[in-house]
Amino acid sequence: MITRTVEAPPSSVECTLAQRSGYGDLHDQCHQTNDVPLPYSADVLLQRRCYCPCHGHGESSR
Ligand SMILES: [Zn+2]
Ligand SMILES: [Zn+2]
Repeated sequence: MITRTVEAPPSSVECTLAQRSGYGDLHDQCHQTNDVPLPYSADVLLQRRCYCPCHGHGESSR
């Protein structure tokens, strides 16, 4: 059973905008498909990967 959390999955600015009608093209502008670690701080992420469904997250097969 999956319970919905209050926080939405992290998405990039581009994909957040792209979810609005009329901005769908912005999905192509998002390249945040990997976690970006903060230098010298392995446990801290500078920027999290975009979890927008347009990237097909969860599967890395190609
Ligand atoms: Zn997207
Ligand atoms: Zn994205």
